[in-house]
Amino acid sequence: MSDRPAAAQLRTGHPPDAQAPGPGPPDRAGVRAELAAAVTDLVVDPDRLAAAGTDRSGLPASAPPLAVVAARTVDDVTAALRIAHTHRIPVIPRGAGTGLAGGAVTGEGSIVVDLTTLDRIVEIDPVDELARVEPGVLTAELDRAARTHGLRYIPDPASAAISTIGGNIATNAGGMRCVKYGVTGDWILGLEVALADGTIISTGRRTVKGVAGLDLTSLFVGSEGTLGIVVGATVRLAPIPDDVVTVSAGFASVHDAASACAAVIAGRGDPSLLELVDAATLRVIDRAQGTDLATRAGALVIAQADGRSARTDAAVIANILGAHAQWTRTATDQTTADELLAARRLALPSIEAFGRALIEDICVPRSRLAQAFDAVADIGRRHGVDLYTFAHAGDGNLHPILAYDTALTEPPAAVQRAADEIFGVALELGGTISGEHGVGILKRDWLAREAGPASLSVQQAIKSALDPRGILNPDKVLKVHRPHAMIHT
Ligand SMILES: Cc1cc2nc3c(=O)[nH]c(=O)nc-3n(C[C@H](O)[C@H](O)[C@H](O)COP(=O)(O)OP(=O)(O)OC[C@H]3O[C@@H](n4cnc5c(N)ncnc54)[C@H](O)[C@@H]3O)c2cc1C
Repeated sequence: MSDRPAAAQLRTGHPPDAQAPGPGPPDRAGVRAELAAAVTDLVVDPDRLAAAGTDRSGLPASAPPLAVVAARTVDDVTAALRIAHTHRIPVIPRGAGTGLAGGAVTGEGSIVVDLTTLDRIVEIDPVDELARVEPGVLTAELDRAARTHGLRYIPDPASAAISTIGGNIATNAGGMRCVKYGVTGDWILGLEVALADGTIISTGRRTVKGVAGLDLTSLFVGSEGTLGIVVGATVRLAPIPDDVVTVSAGFASVHDAASACAAVIAGRGDPSLLELVDAATLRVIDRAQGTDLATRAGALVIAQADGRSARTDAAVIANILGAHAQWTRTATDQTTADELLAARRLALPSIEAFGRALIEDICVPRSRLAQAFDAVADIGRRHGVDLYTFAHAGDGNLHPILAYDTALTEPPAAVQRAADEIFGVALELGGTISGEHGVGILKRDWLAREAGPASLSVQQAIKSALDPRGILNPDKVLKVHRPHAMIHT
């Protein structure tokens, strides 16, 4: 076997296919005409192109896409990929655009493949406790549909009402129930994926277990649209729990609250949800939503226990929280639970109601939770920035939000320095730069620091093997080569 391709790659840093002569860069009108002939619904209206160029990260697009393929069928996706692959055009897969790391942000001459119009729940099987869905189904819609069968779809990002299953899979989204039930990836049995050249592959299974071959499902989960486009998923469902008990607790300080949450984990309280909201966030929720949470506590913890042992688990949790708290309350009614969780879900929208936000998503070992809160608060004070922190405390996942003036198009230097130091704290404490939002563009440089060169080059090799022309969400997550064509405008 010749070693030439490997040698070429070593010399240039590019995979062999990136060097192969292509048909030459097409012009914009030519690409649009080719796409229009091949797909059901092509969008070229400038306003819609501009809207499809950004997500909720606040990061600006360097340019709007040249076209959006609003996928109505899997064939639309494969047709778009074949054309993009032939001409080496960047493809940006897009769900609902609620991503917080810039994963769906576009650049010059790119094609967006919008999956929101591929939104059927294909099957719900109550016996095997699974569903088959297209990627554009809203997460909350799937949960609603499952509930008509006495089941639920467990992963519950705070954006469940507005984000898609495909986006959740691509970012391996978390949510409030992770502390007991895990992240999106733990609920995915199998995937249908369109590869860079338009080939469709199936991964995984619909059985409870199965170990045949490499775990490609896990490879695509969390790959942020850089390895393939998810066009279908088989997801696990679970029975609706018999009982849910909610415990809330008010603390004098966020340090006390964080210590109490770590104690709940260490004390085997088995919470199904364990959330923490600091004083600044309570105040901004009150200001935006007209609530009075900040008058009740200097930091608020909301916990739940569910299932047949909910009442005994809740008693253990209340007891542990009570040892650190100013007050605790236990409720078994749905209304109290809904009110508390709605307030928590509104934390980010409340902050964004008054300014722009740089959203961090660090995760630390739960034993270091209080230390992380202290370090983050200290960074905010030292840099004089507006800082709000809430957390999926049960997972050690903090969301420090650095707010700045709406008039500014990018975060001021003090905010950027503070953000940088917060990432540093995560790594120093043995944690990660992203618990659930993904890397996108926002955390690309920090991924390199977290992963280190050897792990990063393995990740780059996997990317190159699956996407040799580097067309899928280029420059997101990993900085690789740029072999794709620049489209003439
Ligand atoms: C108010 C608010 C609350 C949030 N709360 C949470 C939370 O609790 N937990 C959490 O994890 N996140 C949260 N998020 C972030 C966001 O909702 C998630 O990252 C979500 O999974 C993104 O889904 P989406 O459909 O909007 O995807 P998009 O934003 O459109 O895309 C996200 C990434 O996935 C890729 N992608 C999208 N669809 C596909 C596909 N079918 N195949 C391949 N790649 C694809 C995109 O290229 C991009 O890289 C929140 C966001 C907001 C605005």
